[in-house]
Amino acid sequence: MSAPPDDLRLRGATLLTMDDARRVLRADVRIHEGRIRHLGASRRPAKRSVDLRGMVLLPGFVQAHVHLCQALFRGLADDLPLLPWLRQRIWPLEAAHTPASLRASARMGIAELLRGGTTTVLDMGTVHHQGALFEALAESGIRAISGKAMMDRGDDVPSGLRESTAESLDASHRLRERWDGAAEGRLGYAYAPRFILSCSPELLREVARTSEATGALMHSHAAEHAEERRTVKAMLGEDDVAALERHGLAGPRCVLAHGVQLRRAEMRRAGRLGTRFVHCPSTNLKLGSGIADVVSLRAAGVCVGLGADGAPCNNRMDALTELRLAALLAKGRRQDARALPAMDALELLTREGARALGLDAEIGTIEVGKRADLVALDVDGVAHGPGGDVASRVVYTAQTVDVRHVWVDGAPLLEDGALTRMDSAAIARDARRHARATARRAGL
Ligand SMILES: [Zn+2]
Repeated sequence: MSAPPDDLRLRGATLLTMDDARRVLRADVRIHEGRIRHLGASRRPAKRSVDLRGMVLLPGFVQAHVHLCQALFRGLADDLPLLPWLRQRIWPLEAAHTPASLRASARMGIAELLRGGTTTVLDMGTVHHQGALFEALAESGIRAISGKAMMDRGDDVPSGLRESTAESLDASHRLRERWDGAAEGRLGYAYAPRFILSCSPELLREVARTSEATGALMHSHAAEHAEERRTVKAMLGEDDVAALERHGLAGPRCVLAHGVQLRRAEMRRAGRLGTRFVHCPSTNLKLGSGIADVVSLRAAGVCVGLGADGAPCNNRMDALTELRLAALLAKGRRQDARALPAMDALELLTREGARALGLDAEIGTIEVGKRADLVALDVDGVAHGPGGDVASRVVYTAQTVDVRHVWVDGAPLLEDGALTRMDSAAIARDARRHARATARRAGL
């Protein structure tokens, strides 16, 4: 049922191609061996055909910063600012993970992501048991780049998460060798030094050297919260972005979540160097960090992706929520209704997210030759129309319930709103059991 058909035609949708010309087409999509082979009418019958009349077809959504290991912790860390949120709740909970609880967490997160139209993620894992998370990614069919969190220093880090520099690097290298390019190329490895305060200069320099040698992404957090920034400055004598750059974490292979606190000069420098930033609007609001200036970042030439971050700091993993918030917050922040129009906001979630991850040659637009990672939305109901173009409907009115079909590499992972490879009820049951046990082990 969910195996990729070798010849599939998606009929009758309106395509938001997100290509360079931002074309909106009424066209059939022909898929062969996981790739888009033809756009437009085709008389040749296909082995399988799906009727998408009345629906909008988009490139699958790319979330460039998530934490699947935290999906179990939704609702367990509300109403705390960043550093207490990490020290009092998230780190003890992550330290209490077992391979089984981590697998349950990843499955729940992936199920939610696929139901909401997300087909690709850049994920930051936890320190231990990362193999279990990769196994869940592999069996799910989603496209993902992930890596274990690296934490070789920090006074407040619980012993269950602390590791030596050598242990952290060795474990990361082994995971990259095992999982980079696995699952028919759907999986990739990113080195994930958690943030500047949890990583030694030696570790960061070795990550940068390995990234240079292998092309692997580097994934971290930076410029998130003002208090965190003050702590960094007091400890290191410089800002986190400057310190990361000094150790080699900058440029097109470096993806940094947040960027809320960036000054204009830092934005211009990130634009010149090619460093990627990921906007996480719900998290930045919920943890009281502020609102990233996405419009200025883009104007400075920075590639900006979008991400839901983790379930305990959002508390959704929903692409459409982040999309709408990104558009609305940009307008509110600048007091300008023209800021970040619908099509620009959609770029963050599709082609710019793909570019941030170095996957723009393969995904992020609907074009012949690209991988058939697609999402079909029904935005023709009472809550959507009757006016407005399709980009407006997707950005301002669409919700998860409107996501009807999802394909990755041409394989259907969501059909008529139902997951094809995952049992939602069993996943939720399993997650409840493991969340209780993990919180007990963490002493919470
Ligand atoms: Zn994060």
